[in-house]
Amino acid sequence: MKTFEFIRPADAAAAVAAAARAETAQQGADVRFLAGGTTLVDLMKLNVETPAQLLDVNRLPFDKIEAAPDGGLKIGATVRNSDLANHPAVQRDYAVLSQAILQGASAQLRNMATTAGNLLQRTRCVYFRDTAMACNKREPGSGCPAIDGFNRSLAILGTSEHCIATNPSDMCVAMAALEATIYVQGSNGERAIPFGEFHLLPGDAPHRETVLEPGDLITHVTLPPPVAGSQQVYLKLRDRASYEFALASAAVVMNVTGGNVSRVRIALGGVGTKPWRSPEAEAALVGQPASDANFRKAAEAAMRDAKPQSENGFKVELAKRCLAHALKTAATT
Ligand code: SF4
Repeated sequence: MKTFEFIRPADAAAAVAAAARAETAQQGADVRFLAGGTTLVDLMKLNVETPAQLLDVNRLPFDKIEAAPDGGLKIGATVRNSDLANHPAVQRDYAVLSQAILQGASAQLRNMATTAGNLLQRTRCVYFRDTAMACNKREPGSGCPAIDGFNRSLAILGTSEHCIATNPSDMCVAMAALEATIYVQGSNGERAIPFGEFHLLPGDAPHRETVLEPGDLITHVTLPPPVAGSQQVYLKLRDRASYEFALASAAVVMNVTGGNVSRVRIALGGVGTKPWRSPEAEAALVGQPASDANFRKAAEAAMRDAKPQSENGFKVELAKRCLAHALKTAATT
């Protein structure tokens, strides 16, 4: 592991100022905020991440879950995933989020991993994690061996000729369906970022994964007021029953009124280069009877633009069945 400087800023303003000072022209390469460390420290041991400075934000006052003034929920950036998943308000009003988090990683990792860290979780593409290999995301312009190589677990939606890496987060899929908002403090003050605008598609710059600017510090996330009468389901399909990433997953927040779908939010995991909200599937369902046939039509719509790679064609049908089953479960809960 490369030697680094460890700094513990006294408050958020000091953290942002220290990060802004330390940043180089190479976007974000030299400084990282450290929270749970469950992704970052792993990648530092592999020399994939080589920050010159680590700014420890664990002691900043971002560890609370509170009611928001609009009736929603405010979740601090350093709230641990376990605390979030087991919070009574989350279990009662945002069950899809609790379910998603509890299906990710292991109990030990969830006890350390934080809300902001999970938002910034990096891909599990094997080439990204191996510095002996080329990888456009790790080393821009070096190539993408996954396209002609091991890509069974990689993405079928939102890919580019430069990167097909999957976003690995479960929490983010639920937050996409819940339409969360991410709050950031940066050199130019605070700003709010709608969840769907936070993660970037790889395009021709896969090393840039979010809209965060150098020195931006995530302070908290808000969830809108709970949707009365919604049924919420997170379904995750994977190679083994625990401690494994999704091959396909679906987060569903749905209201059925008089047998028809009156409102639905749908996001997919394990198949996209970012947490994948599917307006196509939502549009196919709203106003329609909550039936197996219509759930399948919505799933077909969600996968209409899928581009399978050499080893992951099975994900197209798997994701369809995953979403259709999640919708059916929500409708019959
Ligand atoms: Fe790197 Fe993305 Fe290609 Fe994986 S898919 S090797 S992360 S560029």
